[in-house]
Amino acid sequence: MQPFSIGEVGATLLLPPRDMSVSQWADENRVLTGAASAERGQWRTRPFQREPMDVLSPSHPSKMVVLLSSAQMLKTECLLNFLGFIADVDPGPALVVEPRIEDAKALSKDRVAPMFRATPVLRGKLATVKSRDSDNTVLHKAFTNGSGHVTFTGAISPSGLAMRPIRYALLDEVDRYPASAGTEGDPVSLAIQRTAEFEHNKKILLCSTPTIKGCSRIELAWLQSDQREYFVPCPHCGEFQVLELGDGAEGGLAWPEGHPEAAQYRCRHCKALIPEHKKASMVEQGGYRAQNPGSLIPGFRVNQLISPKRSWGTIATEFLAAKRSPETLKAFMNTVLATLWEEKHEVVADAHALWNRCEPFAAEVPEGACLLTAGVDVQVDRLELEIAGWGRDEESWSVAYHVIPGDILRNEVWAALDEILLSIYTHENGQQMRVQAACIDSGYKDATVLRFTRDRYNRRVFATKGRSGDGTIWPHKPSRKNQTPFFMIGVNAAKDAVHDRLKVKDAGPSYCHFPLGRDLEYFEQLTAEKKVIRYHNGFAKHEWRKAEGARNEALDCRVYAYAALKSLGLSGAQLNLFCDRFAKHGRRVTAAPPPKAPEEQSAEQPQPAPRREAAANARNPFLNGPGDSFLGGRTNWFRR
Ligand SMILES: [Zn+2]
Repeated sequence: MQPFSIGEVGATLLLPPRDMSVSQWADENRVLTGAASAERGQWRTRPFQREPMDVLSPSHPSKMVVLLSSAQMLKTECLLNFLGFIADVDPGPALVVEPRIEDAKALSKDRVAPMFRATPVLRGKLATVKSRDSDNTVLHKAFTNGSGHVTFTGAISPSGLAMRPIRYALLDEVDRYPASAGTEGDPVSLAIQRTAEFEHNKKILLCSTPTIKGCSRIELAWLQSDQREYFVPCPHCGEFQVLELGDGAEGGLAWPEGHPEAAQYRCRHCKALIPEHKKASMVEQGGYRAQNPGSLIPGFRVNQLISPKRSWGTIATEFLAAKRSPETLKAFMNTVLATLWEEKHEVVADAHALWNRCEPFAAEVPEGACLLTAGVDVQVDRLELEIAGWGRDEESWSVAYHVIPGDILRNEVWAALDEILLSIYTHENGQQMRVQAACIDSGYKDATVLRFTRDRYNRRVFATKGRSGDGTIWPHKPSRKNQTPFFMIGVNAAKDAVHDRLKVKDAGPSYCHFPLGRDLEYFEQLTAEKKVIRYHNGFAKHEWRKAEGARNEALDCRVYAYAALKSLGLSGAQLNLFCDRFAKHGRRVTAAPPPKAPEEQSAEQPQPAPRREAAANARNPFLNGPGDSFLGGRTNWFRR
């Protein structure tokens, strides 16, 4: 729909209210308070917001509208304007679904209520449903203008989704919904089922920032939609294009080495650079073009490269920070670029390639590694364990791998394990190090493992069990069996993290170092599992599986060693801070006698290990922060 001329606006005011469009309603009526948004005063629809809002108008035939968008571009404002429009112009029963009930409450209190207070035509149009329950008054409201009400709910709550028939379903951040609302099934399907009685005039708004390709609800909806992308003209050659991060050479953001804040946009047609100040007029002249015009479902995709609030320089700077780890890069792709994160299964760590890159370690614990953890896998006739060293940005070194053969019901194997866990390791800079935390898999023989960990809890030797499904790697608190604590860890997330790190090809953040002498079998085990898609209630979920008969102990050990790192609560900047302190400490150490082992209540005094005098002169990576090229250039990174 095109912007209205003054003449048309005047004419439509004389028509019955049902012929008003949502953007027109917002431009004429909505007042921003400034409480939750940076702007105050009269709402002004931006060019890329108009069409997505107007297909929600009663005069448009669409029943469903799909918004695949970056954070803070389109979704929430569209949803709010639509809700205001519903209350003022065309009331009916409405349901707003957020991922969690807390999100629903926050939206109602912090965004919807202020809009109804600040916008004159909405004042008094939303009544609190009388209830003694204060949650209820936030989550259930009635429209005073004719019939209708609005319920805010969380996608996890089957009761919130299974009540009265609804005409408007506003489903926000659908990619963050659980696979099932309680045991009732897919929350999106549940909400949509409730619109059945309003077949002739229902509107379903489905919006989200995207997540992982193949596992994304918004991706599925987008693929069925007419896929409208926002095209803007190049100020040099006039060619229309969708702004993308690109590689900077053929098109996309480009910046002088080391100066992302000065980023400009390179036209993919004429290759000329476009300065930031041209963006506003490009966006003004831009428009949506459907890439799948046969569909009757309007679908819209926008990313922050056309945002009036985020400069290209800010986005380029954010990108360089984000690519330090696969997790932050994924978040950047999803929330800033509105692109799906693609898990490239075929490049999932190749055993031979990993084996070929084994390197000599200059010391038991090489420079860079600042913290040791252990992961222990329990088999019927042996224990296997890895001692992993961790450095800045979770760069890792496989310090040692042990197999302790023997019947695990006998004490000998456990005594041998304890000896290894208590060993002193010598760092390249001369410091003495101990294992700071260890995770032992108790899934197989839990009583035996718990007997061992019970008295070693204070040394952070933890019994752990794998928990299936999504969720954080390290739980907030331990579970207990016969009063003995153990930890349920998110193995899927841990395996994702380990695999993402094995895929990193250049030393630096997230890279995994392995010592010369490690055999191929080790790497075959490390890469034995593949990520597969499993369908649950019709919704795709990722899961790690190994081939029948394949061994995967090395992978389990690394997963548990990584969980042990997470148990220390050191992530991101905290881990880096820890590494900085360790490095400073080490430089003092090379000039002074070695310090006592830092902590842990071991009775025996550590044996002073021979110091490496050469270490004092060794290049200290802590002094030089990792550069931006550590992932081998951003083009390569995206080709992963
Ligand atoms: Zn051009």
